[in-house]
Amino acid sequence: MSLPVLGRLRLPRSRQAKLALLVGGVAVPALILAGVATQLTLRVSREVEVQTARYNAYLAAKVSEVFEGELLERVRERSVSAENVARAGGDADAIVRALATQSRDFEAPLFVPTESMDDFTLVTVDGHLLFYGNDPTGRRQHPYAAVLIRGPGGEPVGAGGWWFNPRAFIAEHLAEVVQERLPRTPGLFGGLELMRHLSVEVFDSRGNPVASVREPKHVESAREADMEGPFIGYRVRVAATRSGPVVLAQRFVAVEMGLIVVLTLALLGATTVAVRYIARQIELVHMKSSFVSNVTHELKTPISVIKLAVETLELGRYRTDEERDKYLRTITKESDKLARLVDNILDYSRLEAGQTLMRMGPVRMADVVATALESFRLRLEDEQFEWTVDVPADLPAARGDANALQHCVLNLLDNALKYSKEQRIVKVYAGLREGMVSLSVADRGIGIEKDHQGRIFDKFTRVETGLVHDVKGAGLGLSLVDQIMRAHHGRVEVVSEPGEGSTFTLLLPRWEDGRTPRPSRSA
Ligand code: ADP
Repeated sequence: MSLPVLGRLRLPRSRQAKLALLVGGVAVPALILAGVATQLTLRVSREVEVQTARYNAYLAAKVSEVFEGELLERVRERSVSAENVARAGGDADAIVRALATQSRDFEAPLFVPTESMDDFTLVTVDGHLLFYGNDPTGRRQHPYAAVLIRGPGGEPVGAGGWWFNPRAFIAEHLAEVVQERLPRTPGLFGGLELMRHLSVEVFDSRGNPVASVREPKHVESAREADMEGPFIGYRVRVAATRSGPVVLAQRFVAVEMGLIVVLTLALLGATTVAVRYIARQIELVHMKSSFVSNVTHELKTPISVIKLAVETLELGRYRTDEERDKYLRTITKESDKLARLVDNILDYSRLEAGQTLMRMGPVRMADVVATALESFRLRLEDEQFEWTVDVPADLPAARGDANALQHCVLNLLDNALKYSKEQRIVKVYAGLREGMVSLSVADRGIGIEKDHQGRIFDKFTRVETGLVHDVKGAGLGLSLVDQIMRAHHGRVEVVSEPGEGSTFTLLLPRWEDGRTPRPSRSA
């Protein structure tokens, strides 16, 4: 099992499995909890929406009823004198005269005797009767609304009322009906407080607005009801305003969802960082232990070779002078190897402790290359390498520490030799690139796969797959080169193809104060 979070870290499979378990243990419950929280929040919001829609439908129907009550009250208020006249035995004309009150709601008084009341429809509002119907005289377009008029014995004698314009009536009284009458309606579910957050609009049969109270905001939960009785053909729509609970709930849901997303991302981010950190630490421990075993091997091998050669020389177990020279060369080569390894380890620990002091000055690449090759000459010859050096004589000096740069070139040469197989060719060349002094060491060795090229400069990192497998090393050389180059404000680059070879290039700033360094040794 491997995790993308672990990126390119190299960990043993058992550790990867444990880390995967750790990520799973944190991330999976976090995602499940986030999912549950999201579900619950959405459910609450949906429930609020459903309830709001239900309540809006209920209120829309109520508004129609309340308008009938309003109409009845107004007809009753104004027909009291007509009723008095009828009870006193007044005739139809006298009743009509008594109905002739001035009112903005009604147009013309009309008394309809009982025998002509068949066409009227009757509604009972709060125990009182309201008659309405089309114009009984056929003279007007508006409906007629009336209350029952009783005679001297309390017997019904007819209906007394007026024509009225429902559109004008609704427009005139909507605000009053919604803000005062509706909240006071007996048996109404919900109080004044709830009404404040509702918008009520009335439309005619063609959908044209007639009147409205407050701005609607949440149209999804808006509900309509057809008005009835004398107001037939009109529709009431009730919706939540911007302060309605459903709108507040929506806002709350948006904020909550945002928080859930942020928290989940933060948690996953923290888990990723923590896991990467732990993985890196485990990897370092792992690398350090393999470093120790590599170093031990690197130290032991030359020591045993030297010991063997010294013993052979001591006991005179050689036949010819050439054979003796061969043993001596072996001792020199192996001691160089030992010295380089010890240098690497010392430099590494100094760099780690921040104790390295570099003395920057003008450095001639020709000198650096010549000194480095000098110490490799024996090995190059013994291992039958072909080598070429191309450093232009007029190459500007680099700004650097000669010893440290020397060290870099030695490490690059060492690798070029170590990682070459059949094609034993090494080229060292220098020049100017991007305004910097460049020095390259190229070989025709085993090369490095693209995937590994980014990692080889990490400390303790070795490519232990494929062809490199049988070559030993401590994994410190390139890390040191990289650190030294950084300290020089330069960089090291690699271009490599597996099976084709590798070229490592050091790029260094030029020595800019114009002074040409004195050659320390001829190139
Ligand atoms: P070491 O050589 O001790 O393993 P280095 O830090 O010098 O450590 O190199 C790191 C890794 O880079 C090596 O293990 C090897 O896989 C790869 N490498 C370095 N130089 C070369 C080269 N010239 N050719 C092929 N592979 C190389």
